[in-house]
Amino acid sequence: MSAAKRSRGATALRSDQMQMQLPQLNLPHKRMLAAAAIIAFIAIAFISMPSDNDDDASTRGELEAQARTTESQPTTDATPDSIADSSSRQRLAATQPPQQLWAAQTVKSGDSLSLIFKRAGYNDRDLHQIISQTSDGKSLGRIFPGQTIAFQADESGGLAAVRHVKSPLETVTYRRGVSGFDSQVQIRSPEARETWAAGEITSSLFMAGQEAGLSQKMIMELANIFGGVIDFVQDPRKGDTIHLVYEDLYLDGEKYKDGDIIAASFTNQGKTFNAFRYTEANGDTSYYNEQGVSMRKAFLLAPVDFTRISSNFNPRRLHPIYKTSRPHRGTDYAASTGTPVFAAGDGRVYKAGYSKANGNYVFIQHGEQYVTKYLHLHKRKVKKGQRVSQSQVIGTVGSTGAATGPHLHYEFLMNGVHRNPRTIHKKLPKAKSLPAAEMARFQQMTNKASTQLAALRSDNRLAMADSTHPATAAH
Ligand SMILES: [Zn+2]
Repeated sequence: MSAAKRSRGATALRSDQMQMQLPQLNLPHKRMLAAAAIIAFIAIAFISMPSDNDDDASTRGELEAQARTTESQPTTDATPDSIADSSSRQRLAATQPPQQLWAAQTVKSGDSLSLIFKRAGYNDRDLHQIISQTSDGKSLGRIFPGQTIAFQADESGGLAAVRHVKSPLETVTYRRGVSGFDSQVQIRSPEARETWAAGEITSSLFMAGQEAGLSQKMIMELANIFGGVIDFVQDPRKGDTIHLVYEDLYLDGEKYKDGDIIAASFTNQGKTFNAFRYTEANGDTSYYNEQGVSMRKAFLLAPVDFTRISSNFNPRRLHPIYKTSRPHRGTDYAASTGTPVFAAGDGRVYKAGYSKANGNYVFIQHGEQYVTKYLHLHKRKVKKGQRVSQSQVIGTVGSTGAATGPHLHYEFLMNGVHRNPRTIHKKLPKAKSLPAAEMARFQQMTNKASTQLAALRSDNRLAMADSTHPATAAH
């Protein structure tokens, strides 16, 4: 792991070394994961099958027995009873149709439980019994549009069971027993499948992320991770690359939602930044570079939601408007009206209001030394005196005050003097580093992701070399 400790300047070297040590590690790994996932899914399906029919087992058992005697006649003659019994039972268990029918109702907006029960053919007495007799009865009272409530009748048409599907992960079943209803909560946890993505920036980071198959939420997450070291509005250049190892969460074999980014790298204008998700021994989870320095810096470089503005990315327009002339000492971020503006760092709003020049403005004090200012806002979302945390939305981009078009005018001051936060990097508060005692654990826990990321990056480089310079591949 000596390679991982090298400085950022040695990125290309590190990548090649990694590739030699662990060639094409990512592909077999993915295949194994897929196999493991399938096995896990089958296991889950198998375990969950019989769970909701337990109390009708005796009835079902009789039906099965009848079916078995008719179906398995030919084999019973030829084999001892015990063997025929077990084999046919297995077969029947696998092909057995659902024993009870559930009639589902979808909760509509403005719905009440009473209405839903009525639609399903039951009455308030049934409803009252469930709510008063079960420990989870109150939870049935909290219904939301889009949820499913399903009903099951007994043989005489009375209510046998109600199932409240609160979310894909939580279902409560209320079932009538000998002494009234009882309830059972079923919690499922999605299965995390590791996957990866790689992209090259041709027009914008946002587009590159989309082309790599990342959701908008995932691209935002990526921007959050690197927001302290990269200005996602001004920095990205054609040819920059992103590489990610992340998790997708699956339920019943289908993607349920995005999981966490495990590791990511962003190569910006030839410089590579790596970030690894790491949970400290004390339980805190955050992203760190390979040296164990937190990716979370005291200030975001661009305090604006870049996903909303980068779609009309134009490299020529990206040069920072960092003017030294007196009337304009800040950075302008052109963005459409309504684009969220973030607090660059943790702090307290010391001024928020309106003036003819600034329009709607918010000023934030960060500790003793630092102040950030946000001008021409369409809307202010914070009040004077309010504490804010980094990345919290404090307003939206607008063109109020002396502004020719919608943009965020952002100023950064240290000890009352306008500064460019990127050029005074060394004077800014230091990001948290992992304690030395935790570094060995950090290296161990991020080792796999680090190797995957390096393999991804070298694969990508080869692929790009092949397509752009086929002749050089032979050298
Ligand atoms: Zn300006």
